[in-house]
Amino acid sequence: MKRIGVLTSGGDAPGMNNAIAGVVKAAEAQGIEVYGVRDGYKGLINGWFEKLDSKFALEIISKGGTVLGSARLPEFKEESVRQKAVDQLKAHDIEALVVIGGDGSYMGAQRLTEMGINCIGLPGTIDNDIVSSDYTIGFDTALNTVIESIEKVRDTMQSHNRAAVIEVMGNGCGDLVTYAAIATQAEIFSPSESKLTVEQICEQAKKFAEANHRSLIILVSEKQLDANELAKKVEEASGYVTRATILGHVQRGGRPSGMDRYLAFTAALYAVEKLIEGKGGLYIGLSENKLVARDIESTLNMPKPDKTEFIEKIRLLNAKISK
Ligand code: ATP
Repeated sequence: MKRIGVLTSGGDAPGMNNAIAGVVKAAEAQGIEVYGVRDGYKGLINGWFEKLDSKFALEIISKGGTVLGSARLPEFKEESVRQKAVDQLKAHDIEALVVIGGDGSYMGAQRLTEMGINCIGLPGTIDNDIVSSDYTIGFDTALNTVIESIEKVRDTMQSHNRAAVIEVMGNGCGDLVTYAAIATQAEIFSPSESKLTVEQICEQAKKFAEANHRSLIILVSEKQLDANELAKKVEEASGYVTRATILGHVQRGGRPSGMDRYLAFTAALYAVEKLIEGKGGLYIGLSENKLVARDIESTLNMPKPDKTEFIEKIRLLNAKISK
């Protein structure tokens, strides 16, 4: 193999640049050229390719986001559109591709593999919503951003004897909420997998108020409730002056953490090894702290684990309220 490509697709995540760097370093070490594709599948059909080298790899490893850019291209589901990508790759002698993104991006990678271009997917998303990987690239950095933000909100809530509703990202996966709740001892949390109703949240908030608990942190996964509306209801029910904070895109940016850099780089090395072996249609995940290469189709069909029992166990820790 003489030349491979790398692209980032779907939502950006800290650590994507480390994955790109890993692909470049691993390929260069084997005498293989690497071409970066601008803006995901959009750049692939338009031939937006640029040669990458280890000098470039060194420059990007501490940067957030993705230096290659990302885009969504729904038309990539059509074979005629994917054919343009295959034609561009062939015209540039690019034989195989590493795709860094979420499950939608893997579908694109799988379809391209079926059309003769071996592709390997890497899990790049802050949401941690790839069932077959214990962690995804970007999750740890985002989690640390969420924790830091919650603690800043806690400072002021504690000073003023208030409550805060904090909306956290996750796109249907509540891990950012659950992990952050554990890390910050948030009193009430409602992750996507085990949602609380407005009434349940208000009822619990009332109990904390009755026990003269000084400040209250209520974490909710995005796309679940209107945080401002919820804050009003909590205030009415509990008497706490309650403020809503939507953490928003601050969670997606920032310098990648050490753990995200490590996962991204090592998964990229593994992906290049698999491409050199002539494999495609695979996705690299982390399972019991080991990198594994799994077939994309089976990965996408893996059932979601039931996290409710664990979440309930953590919630019980807040049953005894202290001031
Ligand atoms: P995130 O989890 O951040 O949303 P994602 O990779 O799941 O990341 P999507 O928007 O679902 O994000 O997918 C990214 C791109 O992958 C799409 O814009 C499209 O170009 C391609 N894609 C998605 N689904 C398919 C499919 N079924 N067939 C071919 N290509 C697809």
